[in-house]
Amino acid sequence: MSTSEKYTPWTRKYRADTHAAQGDGWRSPTTGAIPPAISLGATYARDAEYRTPAGLAYLRDQGTPAYEQAEAVVAGLEGGSDALVFSSGMAAATAVFQVLPAGARVVVPQTMYFGLTKWLLEFGGERGLRVVRVPMDDLDAVAAAVGAEDTALVWTESPANPTWTVTDIGAVAGIAHRGGALFGVDNTVPTPVHARPFELGADLIMHSGTKYLNGHTDVVAGLLVLAPEPTEARGAVWERLRLHRRLTGPILGPLETYLLMRGMRTLFPRMRQISATAMTVAEHFAAHPLVRKVAYPGLPSDPGHAIAARQMTGGFSGMLSLHVTGEWQTSLRVAKYCELFIRATSLGGVESLVEHRYTFEGPDSSSPKDMLRLSIGLENPADLVADLEQALERAVKEDH
Ligand code: PLP
Repeated sequence: MSTSEKYTPWTRKYRADTHAAQGDGWRSPTTGAIPPAISLGATYARDAEYRTPAGLAYLRDQGTPAYEQAEAVVAGLEGGSDALVFSSGMAAATAVFQVLPAGARVVVPQTMYFGLTKWLLEFGGERGLRVVRVPMDDLDAVAAAVGAEDTALVWTESPANPTWTVTDIGAVAGIAHRGGALFGVDNTVPTPVHARPFELGADLIMHSGTKYLNGHTDVVAGLLVLAPEPTEARGAVWERLRLHRRLTGPILGPLETYLLMRGMRTLFPRMRQISATAMTVAEHFAAHPLVRKVAYPGLPSDPGHAIAARQMTGGFSGMLSLHVTGEWQTSLRVAKYCELFIRATSLGGVESLVEHRYTFEGPDSSSPKDMLRLSIGLENPADLVADLEQALERAVKEDH
């Protein structure tokens, strides 16, 4: 870019929430505008000497100028050295698997976001990937899987959607690195507000920006972030990821990039309130006669609590699952009778959502049938609790 267009982030370091609120202190160098410009150019004019005045040639190649701010802010929040914006979380996650050499062996969680599991099962093998699925909360199983043969990548998600199983990120990073593998972490659910996988040894972090980073249910976006310390393996995979985005085109549009960045400004206060409300809802239903189990790593009774408490800070995010007492159809009826929780897929927005994952995922689903996934938003906690209470009562009454 030319000097007049050059984006210059703050050189002074503030706390993470300050960086998020002011988008790293970015200002338009030409107008002083505080939000980034929405620059819709798909192609860029060259001067008579055939130079590109701002270093931009084509939208798919370099992205829109506003990528710089969004990528710098997310890299900064995660404590990484670089970031790449993608058109969706799936585009970002599958990019990592697609740039591995044919025949690469990957160790992934038995339970994680359904879409990525389905992609690996449908397309991984066809592309020559050898996909090994393990329970990521069983370190012996992870070590045995990684130690069995050369492994290119270990991947995890913690807490993992939709059971909220917790991975010991530091321990799995050690296992991956001792086995010569790269370690990627989907940090969508905890967000950098509550978890910092690079400090525990991750090489790559992935986000569905659709969820908490944007937070307003109006964008589909993804991001990858590179660890702070350079190594040959990290550098090599990062260059391939950049080239992959450029040549295959999973880029985020300029309008969506603007919305992603606008959402990120309020990430910290949203997460603080959402996590506090999720804890209130989890605690309320943990001792409820119509609920068999609440899966939420914030509860001391949760199997992942001790590890989550050690590696998460300031809260446990806004995702929890209720296992409803009685026949599994009762859980579906609870969703039917919700009046405030919106029956919808996805997560991480300001509106609370309820989802019967088994019904959404279909016959391939390994989600428990009695489970309702809740994405907690910014509503008053008492209204959310009351809505679930009345829905549970009506659903159970219909049972009899
Ligand atoms: N990772 C997690 C944890 C998710 O929940 C999702 C989507 O639900 C994804 C990745 C995929 O993101 P996207 O829908 O933006 O492609």
